[in-house]
Amino acid sequence: MEPIPAGTPSLQPSRANGNINLGPSANPNARPTDFDFLKVIGKGSYGKVLLAKSKSDGTFYAVKVLQKKPILKKKEQSHIMAERSVLLKNVRHPFLVGLRYSFQTPEKLYFVLDYVNGGELFFHLQRERRFLEPRARFYAAEVASAIGYLHSLNIIYRDLKPENILLDCQGHVVLTDFGLCKEGVEAEETTSTFCGTPEYLAPEVLRKEPYDRAVDWWCLGAVLYEMLQGLPPFYSQDVSQMYENILHQPLQIPGGRTVAACDLLQGLLHKDQRQRLGSKTDFLEIKSHVFFSPINWDDLYHKRLIPPFNPNVIGKTGGLRGSMICLRPHSKLEAELGP
Ligand code: ADP
Ligand code: MG
Repeated sequence: MEPIPAGTPSLQPSRANGNINLGPSANPNARPTDFDFLKVIGKGSYGKVLLAKSKSDGTFYAVKVLQKKPILKKKEQSHIMAERSVLLKNVRHPFLVGLRYSFQTPEKLYFVLDYVNGGELFFHLQRERRFLEPRARFYAAEVASAIGYLHSLNIIYRDLKPENILLDCQGHVVLTDFGLCKEGVEAEETTSTFCGTPEYLAPEVLRKEPYDRAVDWWCLGAVLYEMLQGLPPFYSQDVSQMYENILHQPLQIPGGRTVAACDLLQGLLHKDQRQRLGSKTDFLEIKSHVFFSPINWDDLYHKRLIPPFNPNVIGKTGGLRGSMICLRPHSKLEAELGP
């Protein structure tokens, strides 16, 4: 993370009014009564995500509502810096969820996000068990493009995980949840509430060692592995066994994958972060890997590549997104796939 210059507004409440600095997205005129809140579409560590309809123009949004109190309690420097760097920068990318604006009440923060209604990527994966390489390549490339962009802003995503990868109505990737006020909590969660929700924890994160941007390339490897295999790498139903596998077991790639895919997985899921693919020149190394040679990265960025799958929702607000949230853990799937 880049150092924050002295005098940068922080997440500490200002003495005057208890407000939190929401950076350039802050809309001082907005208030909760601007919306009809229709239903809960996601729940997370600090709060929830609601489907909301703007009273003024009828547009649907996903509004993320966070309680201020637990955020203000966490005062670790690193966590506050991470949040600042996200909130105080204009983060805009075709494969990152659009933050329209944000506002606050004395108790809560509201982030007004574009509503993404193609379902969680892993909902679709669980229906189909695994994706063929061209389809997995497309999603992995869009995810990689978003991560590369965040890194260019000195932002580490860190906890890329299945439920944070959504599809839009056309079938393009949309990453949610890139550090809006939640770092720090997650770190504690991993030890307590981890059971049954496999995340893509890199060895250095498990060891609670300092991590750098290479952690995101590990996660990309985990996403790609799961898309191709139907289960996360190093998977075990027993969580402590899975930790053990992540830390010490060599990566197993069952047959049937191309040499290029195997090589990329080995590179991204390298246990030593200094030797991992992406640790030297970051996104450039990923982009130029042979697995991605069919991808024209400029076309990809401009959404000129036709998505391999259409989520079949009607327009930007249609569909039954609520039913397209994936069911973790993997037990069901595992029963079907065998050991
Ligand atoms: P948390 O920090 O609590 O994990 P997320 O931002 O990941 O919060 O949101 C939780 C869930 O809400 C996501 O996994 C997703 O299913 C849903 N969600 C989040 N943002 C959107 C959005 N913009 N459109 C549709 N659904 C969303
Ligand atoms: Mg999330």
